[in-house]
Amino acid sequence: MKKSSIIALMLVLIVVLAACGKNNNESTGGKSSDGEKGTIGIAMPTKSSERWVNDGANMVKEFKNLGYGTDLQYGEDVIENQVSQIENMITKGVKLLVIASIDGEALTDVLQKAADAKIPVIAYDRLIKKSEHVSYYATFDNFKVGVLQASYLEEKLGLKEGKGPFNIELFAGSPDDNNAYFFFDGAMSVLQPYIDSGKLVVKSGQTKFDQVATLRWDGGVAQSRMDNLLSANYSSANVDAVLSPYDGITIGILSSLKGVGYGSSDKPLPITSGQDAELASVKSIIAGEQTSTVFKDTRELAKVAVNMAVAVLSNKTPEINDEKTYDNGVKIVPSYLLVPISVDKSNYKEVLVDSGYFTEDQLK
Ligand code: BGC
Repeated sequence: MKKSSIIALMLVLIVVLAACGKNNNESTGGKSSDGEKGTIGIAMPTKSSERWVNDGANMVKEFKNLGYGTDLQYGEDVIENQVSQIENMITKGVKLLVIASIDGEALTDVLQKAADAKIPVIAYDRLIKKSEHVSYYATFDNFKVGVLQASYLEEKLGLKEGKGPFNIELFAGSPDDNNAYFFFDGAMSVLQPYIDSGKLVVKSGQTKFDQVATLRWDGGVAQSRMDNLLSANYSSANVDAVLSPYDGITIGILSSLKGVGYGSSDKPLPITSGQDAELASVKSIIAGEQTSTVFKDTRELAKVAVNMAVAVLSNKTPEINDEKTYDNGVKIVPSYLLVPISVDKSNYKEVLVDSGYFTEDQLK
């Protein structure tokens, strides 16, 4: 082959390879940007829930303002994706990793690689377990989230005033997410006494975390479980309340209920909880379908995580406010816990619109 043909062929190859790299990155939702202070690796669990999209975007913005580039990747709820995304970030030589894990127990090996490369790690929203190589944890008061969800049901049913008995069914989050246990334990700290006294009746009998958990927080999985619960236990009775840990799960539960005729004046939808104040769910609250959610301001969480990262990179101690709650099995991870807020039709304007989280127009 002529020298000029070889050069032409090589050029074509380079262009094709560059395009492949770009596609790979984009197909997993990845986005990179440069900054003079180096790059921060941000590994998020999935784009299927709006909150993680906001979390990622908020952190990119904050880091950029401070002169850092970012490599933001979404694992789309596949553990292996997330592990290889983090491996790539380590190979690329990121300065620090911020990780919201898919499975909190699946990162032990990859975090060892990060430690070998002297890359510090901040756990974002979800605790990373079974690794000593987690420097700090930025999250919300997760037990309180569950307390708020259940207290809302308690208040609306009038349980404190002695009303009842009411029928309730319980849902929890993903068993590989440490938060799911905190939410459920928080909620049960409020509900269990009423279950014990008979003021709340769980007709399915399913009250243990393992029986009510929802793998990967999947709304479709929750919908199928609710279908089964309704057909097996509610042919001649109505369900009055449903404890749901997350807006996406509540959407599944509500579709199931509507499918068997709930939502009319003689068969009203039960009182429901949720979490994250996602747009579709806030609209559902305004429309009188979902009853409540718990708002966790992702803008604030991003700020806390970015401040932690900057402190770690300048060898300073970041601000923390909890040194006892989050034992990851190897160590207690020093944490900063933000405060969650209960939201329903009566206060969504004040909490979500006045704070600029949503505009009135978005909620129409
Ligand atoms: C988060 C929640 C979220 C859930 C599902 C949890 O770890 O704390 O805010 O609703 O994951 O994405």
